[in-house]
Amino acid sequence: MPTAAAGTERFLAEVREFLDRALTEDLRAAGRATTGVHSEIGACRLWHRRLYEQGWIAPGWPRARGGTGWSEEQRFLFDRECAANDAPILFAAGLRSLGPLLMAAGTAEQQARYLPAILTGDDLWAQGFSEPGAGSDLAAITTRAVAAKDSGGDHYVVDGLKLWTTGAHICNRMFMLARTAQQDRPQHGITFLLVDLPCPGLTITPILSLDGAHEFNEVRLEGVRVPVENRVGAENEGWAVAKQLMRFARANNTNVAHLRRTWRALDRIAARMGAEQEIRARRAVLETELVGFEALELRLRMAGRLDGHDEAASSLVKTAATELHQRLTELLLEAAGPYAAATAPLTPHLAEGGFAARKYLATRAATIYSGTSEIHRSVMARHLMA
Ligand SMILES: Cc1cc2nc3c(=O)[nH]c(=O)nc-3n(C[C@H](O)[C@H](O)[C@H](O)COP(=O)(O)OP(=O)(O)OC[C@H]3O[C@@H](n4cnc5c(N)ncnc54)[C@H](O)[C@@H]3O)c2cc1C
Repeated sequence: MPTAAAGTERFLAEVREFLDRALTEDLRAAGRATTGVHSEIGACRLWHRRLYEQGWIAPGWPRARGGTGWSEEQRFLFDRECAANDAPILFAAGLRSLGPLLMAAGTAEQQARYLPAILTGDDLWAQGFSEPGAGSDLAAITTRAVAAKDSGGDHYVVDGLKLWTTGAHICNRMFMLARTAQQDRPQHGITFLLVDLPCPGLTITPILSLDGAHEFNEVRLEGVRVPVENRVGAENEGWAVAKQLMRFARANNTNVAHLRRTWRALDRIAARMGAEQEIRARRAVLETELVGFEALELRLRMAGRLDGHDEAASSLVKTAATELHQRLTELLLEAAGPYAAATAPLTPHLAEGGFAARKYLATRAATIYSGTSEIHRSVMARHLMA
């Protein structure tokens, strides 16, 4: 009878054979050069297409909807192998959060219209939640949606300002929250809408990150018309829909992928710069932490505690992963030494030094997005005290 270990070896061999074949040197270079939350968009699209054609684009989806049917362990191993082979990091809000949400809470028409294009990669989705004054306190949003007077009730008209909207400039759709009523609590009276990008009345303005990259934007909505059929869930009950979406996003998040990629960069840069004894010693300590973190994540996944329902487990993993990621990039910066001040990639040392600095700066955001470390610590404390 075949053992579990033999099954794992067979699975890994199949994954490695595919990655060897499908990851061209261009795609690997784009993966290695990634500093932010996704790789250069052309490489993302190409890698998305190859995974789709292989049938491996949506490991987190049910098999009947285009998923792989892999176990939690196989999904973890797949992410780790992708990282070990420098695969590009996908732009994945549709795959990770909106797709699963529509399967659970969308209408049959919404599922038929949107799910296939998320799988193929033809549709990329941005998340329009945050606003000035509404980040951690998301229920404070003021963007308004009112029924259009001229449309017999079949359209909303939306006005407001969204902030930090990752990828709005490369996406063709956005899911968002708008206030449709003032009720007893701020969480009540919010509605979840799907918007096409671009569309009349919607303006996208770039915001540059610390590392100079253009990943996120300000999105202004002035009289934007949204068909009522683009509402997910009931009017005024979008808060529950958004919470469900965040559970899916947490369940499908892949921490190991980001950490292993940065680890490989640290290895490479420390070797190129001829790292000193002290850097090598600290690198060994961080490797122990990384292996410990991977064991924690795998264990929680296999116990079903990272399926999005166990808030404390998700918050623990998010905080531990992002804070370890920042420590890795701090050492990366030190390993690059004076080359980190490079502004032009004139030599391999200068190119690696500039990369180290950009990676360090971009990773400062990791303890802010998807909930700040302070907010996640409060979640853990609440569960401990309950
Ligand atoms: C790289 C990046 C990408 C992002 N992408 C998107 C996106 O695509 N779509 C989107 O909608 N949003 C996005 N965001 C926004 C992100 O969700 C918010 O930045 C985050 O929720 C924090 O909100 P804020 O920036 O308004 O900070 P604030 O909420 O104003 O927080 C400021 C400080 O106060 C602390 N604080 C706030 N409330 C509490 C509290 N109750 N207890 C203790 N401390 C508290 C915070 O921890 C933080 O240190 C992105 C952010 C970043 C950095």
